[in-house]
Amino acid sequence: MTGFDYDLFVIGGGSGGVRAARVAAEHGAKVAIAEEDKVGGTCVLRGCVPKKLFAHSAHFAEALEDSVGFGWSVEGVRFDWPTLVRNVTADTDYLSSIYTRNLDRSGAELIRSRAVIEDAHTIRLESESRAVTARYILVATGGSPKLDSAVPGHEHGIVSDDIFTMPLLPKRVLIVGAGFVGIEFAGIFAAFGTETTVIHRGDEILRGFDMDIRRSVHAGMERRGISIIMGDTVASIEKTPAGLVGTARSGRKLNADAILFAIGRTPNSGAFGLPEAGVALDANGAVVVDEFSRTSAGNIYAIGDVTNRLCLTPVAIREGEAVADTLFGGRPVAVDYRNVPEAVFSQPEAATVGLTEEVAKATFPAVDIYKAVFKPLANRVAGRDERMMMKLVVDGSTDRVLGCHIVGDHASELVQVAAIAVRMGATKADFDQTVALHPTAAEELVTMRKPAERFRREAAE
Ligand code: FAD
Repeated sequence: MTGFDYDLFVIGGGSGGVRAARVAAEHGAKVAIAEEDKVGGTCVLRGCVPKKLFAHSAHFAEALEDSVGFGWSVEGVRFDWPTLVRNVTADTDYLSSIYTRNLDRSGAELIRSRAVIEDAHTIRLESESRAVTARYILVATGGSPKLDSAVPGHEHGIVSDDIFTMPLLPKRVLIVGAGFVGIEFAGIFAAFGTETTVIHRGDEILRGFDMDIRRSVHAGMERRGISIIMGDTVASIEKTPAGLVGTARSGRKLNADAILFAIGRTPNSGAFGLPEAGVALDANGAVVVDEFSRTSAGNIYAIGDVTNRLCLTPVAIREGEAVADTLFGGRPVAVDYRNVPEAVFSQPEAATVGLTEEVAKATFPAVDIYKAVFKPLANRVAGRDERMMMKLVVDGSTDRVLGCHIVGDHASELVQVAAIAVRMGATKADFDQTVALHPTAAEELVTMRKPAERFRREAAE
């Protein structure tokens, strides 16, 4: 069509890149996608999927404990880390092969090479020592975990990528950072019997989540023996014959066999020609894009974690599909970032959709809060002293449900379904008119009669 080798060249075969390549090819575009590692990217190989499988394994620890109250005997049960690592790796390799097969079926050409942008239309394929041209380039290179290089001895630390190939389960782990990745791995390690400490410079874990989620997960983690240190961080790390010693800013010494930095991720935007091609980056190195994921270089687009908008797999996938539809599907599509559900696969699990109580109160003059904190049926027989938390944040003027926040078993599954109602604009009355499904935990969502709080801004001021 245009004298270019390809209509679209995608750099990065992760969640976003693969979806964009497949959809663009299905629209009839000539597409190539370069991937320097295995196909599938962070989610499949080093993120959501292996992490969720590890969390699933961690759940057996509690399920086994609980089973005793239901008549089971579980003496002699033991956990074997190498078996978990081996079986999860086999599964993620299998998923990677499915991704590759689906790409192939779509007609997109997979090139196994690092790609470097030479100019706005030219891409050099490093492992093939050749260059190709494309009308449009899509940058889908994701992000990478980072060590804190300001901490002396940080080179003794590990990042989340390393966990999935660790030969031995550490006896003691220190986790620096209390975002979702740090909190999830804390629960996983603790369930496997590792002495687990989280250290976080802020005053509560899981920044950005509703405060009831933050506090409920915090309390649940402590119930499981995880030590959480707030308002402090690791200032230096020393390797000794007895293991690693982290010295906190407060002077406190923290002994560990592994120190995990879970302090956020860096967009993969360096050293492959973006600024030279006219692509603007922000102060954190994220590619700056407009609502259609278009960069400052008009024919270059960027999606997913490299743009640091909402770093979640389904969002990267949506963004990739939207670019393919915009460029080759004859309809400009902008992704709607409202009401994106999110989960924390912690112990206990948490999930959320829509506005937190804090944001709702800052945005709306009238907000009603409905909350249920209750012991699920099975916990009584199991003798587990843990409650589930469900919360609806409601616009007091229109009765519309603005947010739903849950902590407890299967929170993620519940919130995925509740997200449909929240996105459709369901009111609290709609929830109330829905007949309960009994006996479930989820029935609490449709049986919360009285608000725990009626916030009215005039009254509050
Ligand atoms: P990626 O999937 O990272 O793909 C980028 C690809 O580009 C990589 O394969 C890389 O090798 C390749 N690449 C980079 N540079 C080049 C180059 N120059 N040439 C060729 N190839 C290149 N999200 C959720 O929704 N749910 C979760 O439960 C969840 N859990 C997570 C747990 C962890 C531990 C982590 C780290 C992340 C998790 N995420 C989760 C986030 C999710 O994994 C990411 O948002 C998602 O993978 C981003 O997809 P992407 O396509 O932007 O990038």
